[in-house]
Amino acid sequence: MTYDLIVVGGGPAGMLGAATAAANGLKVLLLEKNEKLGKKLYITGKGRCNVTNYGDIDDFTNNIVTNPKFLYGALNAFDNHQLITLLNSLNVKTKVERGNRVFPVSDKSSDVIKALEKHLLTNKVTIRLNTPVKRVLVLGDNVCGVLLADDTKLTSNKVLLATGGMSYSQTGSTGDGYKMAQELGHTIIQLRPALVPLETKEPWVKKLQGLTLKNVQVQALVKNKVKTEQFGELLFTHFGVSGPVVLTISSIVNKYLDQQPIILNIDLKPALSREQLGKRIQRDFIKYAGKHLKNAMDDLLPRKMIPVLLALSGVDIHKQVDQITREERDQLVYTFKNIRLTVHQTGPLNEAIVTSGGISTKEVNSSTMESKIIKGLHFAGEIIDIDALTGGYNLQLAFSTGYLSGISAATDTGS
Ligand SMILES: Cc1cc2nc3c(=O)[nH]c(=O)nc-3n(C[C@H](O)[C@H](O)[C@H](O)COP(=O)(O)OP(=O)(O)OC[C@H]3O[C@@H](n4cnc5c(N)ncnc54)[C@H](O)[C@@H]3O)c2cc1C
Repeated sequence: MTYDLIVVGGGPAGMLGAATAAANGLKVLLLEKNEKLGKKLYITGKGRCNVTNYGDIDDFTNNIVTNPKFLYGALNAFDNHQLITLLNSLNVKTKVERGNRVFPVSDKSSDVIKALEKHLLTNKVTIRLNTPVKRVLVLGDNVCGVLLADDTKLTSNKVLLATGGMSYSQTGSTGDGYKMAQELGHTIIQLRPALVPLETKEPWVKKLQGLTLKNVQVQALVKNKVKTEQFGELLFTHFGVSGPVVLTISSIVNKYLDQQPIILNIDLKPALSREQLGKRIQRDFIKYAGKHLKNAMDDLLPRKMIPVLLALSGVDIHKQVDQITREERDQLVYTFKNIRLTVHQTGPLNEAIVTSGGISTKEVNSSTMESKIIKGLHFAGEIIDIDALTGGYNLQLAFSTGYLSGISAATDTGS
């Protein structure tokens, strides 16, 4: 049996690419090395699958960290509303939550996978599981098929590489596609972990392991220049920091790790000006008159944080609040607004929610997702040098680029 298109990788990008091409007349074979489709999709959104974001194109542009312009064509071809309509037509009802995050009403990623499988079967895509691909075969500058790990050759004059990134490798995303594309002359932009915890130097973070701080403002400075400022929740770990604010920051500072120092400046009370915070502390000191400083901060800080903040401020923890001088109070205010952490590296690539880097967008046609080097070779999803922040954007990018690859493979006349 010969196929018009072979899709390598049964993640969201590959599944939608395959179904779209088949719906538009191509004979399509989908090859997945795992025993089932969508293993990474299954664990998305903690098993609930934050499938897209309900925001407009500007929201998308603001939340795509790498190569937003390259993605206009794909987002235009298949946007969040089209994805929601498709899911609805496949019996997956969706709901919008905080931050415009879209989830299946059932809160089950497995329902999204089942819907995509149905879409594949309805459009008569042939699916082969447990089938790892080793190489994309070319004749001159044209794709002519793929070579399987068992050395079987399969022929087709179009191939879509949708093998994903290189994190959470247990889901099948082991970076195979990067090697296959590189062999064909494609440039791989340095792979870096994105949406990942950050490792910090200060030993005191260990004492705060497990503590979550809500509503904090964190500035990330690279060589004293502010690269980003984020508001929200931060979690201390045994090696550094994590939580939504830190994941976002990681996607921005991951490109500067060789430009030390990278500092996180945490403002614990961003809603209060220094003057307001000073007055607030003064009021608390009146309320807790006669107590030691360490016993007078409970209204302002979680218990675990008090000795750490006081040690960082340099104010004597055993002093009674009535003996605190104005300078010492100012010092406390300063520390509340400037807890500093030095980032020395990101967490490992395998623990990143997404991989930043990948196939250089300069070598991919943004209107078709076709390689500019090899005719008939398409790319979709995380394998490309694209990444976005949390909120459903990464899955939408996988679906949009998958759709665009599929539709352009089907409409390409081969001229
Ligand atoms: C824990 C976690 C939670 C996440 N949550 C969300 C979320 O809620 N919302 C969101 O938008 N994004 C989320 N993401 C990111 C999102 O899952 C990915 O960006 C997305 O899955 C990328 O899709 P893809 O199709 O490009 O690649 P993948 O989903 O990685 O799929 C690639 C497929 O290719 C197969 N493959 C690889 N090599 C070969 C080969 N040689 N031969 C055959 N098959 C091969 C793999 O087995 C895999 O099935 C999350 C990621 C993680 C790790």
